[in-house]
Amino acid sequence: MFSCWYGDSDELSVLHQLPLVRDARCDVVVVGAGMAGLSVAYFLAREGRSVMVLDDGPVGGGMTGLSSAHLSYALEDGYARLEVLHGLEGIRTAAASHRAAVAMIEQLTVRESIDCQFLRVDGFLFNPPGQGSANLEVEREAALRAGIEVEFCQSSPLLNFETGPCLRFPNQGQFHPLRYLAGLTRAFLRLGGKVHTQSHVKRASGGAIPFVETERGCRVDCSHLVLATNSPRRGVTYSSYVIALRIPPGSVRPALYWDSLPNYHYVRVAPGGATDGSDLLIVGGEDRRGGQAHPQLFSTLEKWTRKRFAMAGRVDYLWSGQVARCSDGSAWIGPGEEENSFVVSGGSGHGLTHGTIAGQLITDLVCGRPQPLGALLCAQGSGYSSSLI
Ligand SMILES: Cc1cc2nc3c(=O)[nH]c(=O)nc-3n(C[C@H](O)[C@H](O)[C@H](O)COP(=O)(O)OP(=O)(O)OC[C@H]3O[C@@H](n4cnc5c(N)ncnc54)[C@H](O)[C@@H]3O)c2cc1C
Repeated sequence: MFSCWYGDSDELSVLHQLPLVRDARCDVVVVGAGMAGLSVAYFLAREGRSVMVLDDGPVGGGMTGLSSAHLSYALEDGYARLEVLHGLEGIRTAAASHRAAVAMIEQLTVRESIDCQFLRVDGFLFNPPGQGSANLEVEREAALRAGIEVEFCQSSPLLNFETGPCLRFPNQGQFHPLRYLAGLTRAFLRLGGKVHTQSHVKRASGGAIPFVETERGCRVDCSHLVLATNSPRRGVTYSSYVIALRIPPGSVRPALYWDSLPNYHYVRVAPGGATDGSDLLIVGGEDRRGGQAHPQLFSTLEKWTRKRFAMAGRVDYLWSGQVARCSDGSAWIGPGEEENSFVVSGGSGHGLTHGTIAGQLITDLVCGRPQPLGALLCAQGSGYSSSLI
C-alpha cells in the first residue's frame, strides 16, 4: 500500500553499500546513515578523520527517506512558544542555526555537485478558517525578535484555496532528500570515508576506547562514537502521513505551505515530479501521537487536499513515518552519557536542518573546538548514549 515518491533508481544505487564483514579500527564510528549521521560523517571526513558509517538498511532508509523535505527556519513550534522556553538568545540561536543549515545544504549542492532539485521558496503559515489572525501577529513579532525576515500577508498565493491572512517567510528551501544523501555519500566516499549498510549494530559503547559490535559479530574500535539512530526514546513520537498527487504543471506556485492546526497540514510542490512530467503536490500531516499507524488518515488527508486543490489528479504515492519530538522544541545533539560518545536524536519536523546542524556541531566537539550552539543543544544530548541502540 505504501509507496514513497523518492523511490529507487540507478542514481540512488550508492545508497546501498556492502555490509561490514570483518573487524576494523577508525577514528570515528557513526551509527545511522540518515541526514544526521551522514552529515556528521561528511564534515568529520573533511577534517581528515577516518570515519565509518554503519546502518541497518540503505543510506536514507530511516525517516530521512520518508520526510516531505521542507527545509525551513520558520520553526513549527513557533518562535513565540520557543521564546518562553529558551528566551531571546535561545530563539536567536535557533533561527540563526537553522537558517545557516539551509544555506549549508545549498552550498554543499554546489560544492559537491549534488543534483537534488534544491530550490529556494517562500514559506506561508496560515490559520484554519474562522480563527482570525491574532496568533499570527504574535508569531510575526517573535520571529522578528529572533532575527528572521517575515511579513504579514492578507492571503497566500494559492489561487483556489483562500487561506486567509498568513505569514510569509522568504528564502526557505526544499529538495529531494535521497538524491541529496546520495550526493553526500559520494562526496564522503571520495574523502576516504567508509559506509556499510545492512550492518545492524547490536552493541555500542563509549569510554576510553569506544567500540561497536554488529549483529554479524564484527567489532570496530574507534576514538569517538556518534549515535545518529533517531531513537525516539525519552521523547514523544508522532506518526505523520503524506500523499503525493499529480497537478498540472505550474498550477500551484512552488512554496512551503503549512497551517497552525495541532494535527497539522503541510504542502509543497515538486515541479515535474510525476512520471508523466506533471508537477507533484506533496501534502502531509494529520499527525497523531504514538508510533501506531492509522491508514484511514490517508483518506482524511486526501479529502482535506481535494477540498482545497480542486485541480489535483490521482494520488501517485502515499507513505507515513514517525517523527521523534523533543518536548522543548529543540533536538538532542551533543555529548552522550559515556566518554567520547555523542548523540543526535529528536529532530522533530525539522530533522533535516537539525541533522545538518548536528554535522557541524559534533564535528566541532570531536575536534575540540568551542561551539556557540553548545549552550542550547548540548545540554539536551547528555544522558542518551548507548540507550539509543
Ligand atoms: C512523514 C514525515 C515528514 C517529515 N517532514 C520533514 C520535513 O519536511 N522537514 C524536516 O526537516 N524534517 C521532516 N521530517 C523529520 C525528518 O525526516 C527526520 O527528523 C530526519 O530525517 C531524521 O534524520 P536522522 O538522520 O536523525 O534519522 P533517520 O533518517 O531515521 O536515520 C537513522 C538511521 O539509523 C539507523 N539505525 C537505527 N538503529 C540502528 C542500529 N542499531 N544499527 C544500525 N543502524 C541503525 C536506521 O536504519 C536509520 O537509517 C519528517 C518526518 C516524517 C516521518
